[in-house]
Amino acid sequence: MKFNTKAIHGGKIHEKQFGAHATPIYQTSTFVFENCKQGGDRFAGRDNGYKYTRLGNPNTNEISAKMAILDETDAGLYTSTGMSAISTALMGLMQAGDHFICSDCVYGGTYAVIDKVITNYGIDMDYVKINDEEKLLNAFKENTKVVYIETPANPTLELIDVKRIAKIAHEKGAILIVDNTFMTPYLQKPMLLGADLAIYSVTKYINGHGDVVGGIITGKQEYINRINNPHLLNLGGTGSPFDSWLVSRGIKTLGVRMDRHCANAMAVATYLENHPKVKTVYYPGLESFPQHDLAKEQMEGFGGMISFELIGGFDDAQTLLDNLKVFSLAVSLGGVDSLIQHPASMTHAAIPEPERIKAGITNELVRVSVGIEDVEDLIEDLDKGFQLI
Ligand SMILES: *Cc1c(COP(=O)(O)O)cnc(C)c1O
Repeated sequence: MKFNTKAIHGGKIHEKQFGAHATPIYQTSTFVFENCKQGGDRFAGRDNGYKYTRLGNPNTNEISAKMAILDETDAGLYTSTGMSAISTALMGLMQAGDHFICSDCVYGGTYAVIDKVITNYGIDMDYVKINDEEKLLNAFKENTKVVYIETPANPTLELIDVKRIAKIAHEKGAILIVDNTFMTPYLQKPMLLGADLAIYSVTKYINGHGDVVGGIITGKQEYINRINNPHLLNLGGTGSPFDSWLVSRGIKTLGVRMDRHCANAMAVATYLENHPKVKTVYYPGLESFPQHDLAKEQMEGFGGMISFELIGGFDDAQTLLDNLKVFSLAVSLGGVDSLIQHPASMTHAAIPEPERIKAGITNELVRVSVGIEDVEDLIEDLDKGFQLI
């Protein structure tokens, strides 16, 4: 079966009692046992029926299974947020005394959880310019257990060659985790490129409608098991049944939404690139994008995220952002509606300025999440904003 068919039917629960076509919402905290033996068997793992929603729920299982199918991998784990997926994965795969490598441009919350939480538990790490092979090779230590990357990176859109990094990580005995939030399984399948695990903020494209926060980890069974038990089950980052249900519903249109995001973003990026007030545009689909060839090689499309800098710097960008009517001035991304924001003062404000600039997140940089509206309306909105500068 191909992608859209799997997005609609994959992992689906067939409700038997009433024959409901749509998956019911199992909005319950606990599950009744028929007798003591059954309850005991479930807790002992001899019967895989449900016990308690933190430990498993039909709705969270449905979305976990669907995502694993779409990523063409073994298993998935639905979590309460993308950050919960990231923190639980890192804590689940490492312990005090271990070391990991992280690419130097990642989501702001990822920096924050690493710097303020993970490294306080005796886990050592280095941020590395991963595309510099010498720097990467030098960063490995005896105790390096994980390499963590994001491609395209948020918000610079810099790409990392997943196949190449997977090979290096495996040679060094480390696990490769890819934050695939920007691409989704529709446009990039990390495990088929050699990664061990993929992480998603399903808050973004996977749910796609801007009304849920959630996360998912997909990948090899062995690692998913380690992250799930004892970590996810006891740290408690399990997602809610209703949110899982909304995500399962949203994901059915993932393929059609992504096609439209890609087409709209290409048109907006081309418009920006040709605008005299724009200095630089970063969009993997543009010929001018330095890693355009790698984008064509490892991605099935170029996605809906663009960042750009104006010749007039942040002063002019502020005028533009404050006057748009169709684009909303808001963080987050990947929903059907277009959003625009300023990473240096918003999503990536947690990163100290020198490191932020080094990672390419300048004070001028503006990030756009191109929605699926009619693209003529998006361009007209930008055009009116530019006229005020
Ligand atoms: C938003 C985001 C996250 C964090 O996800 P939440 O659902 O907000 O917790 C992680 N990685 C990337 C690339 C993101 O864009």
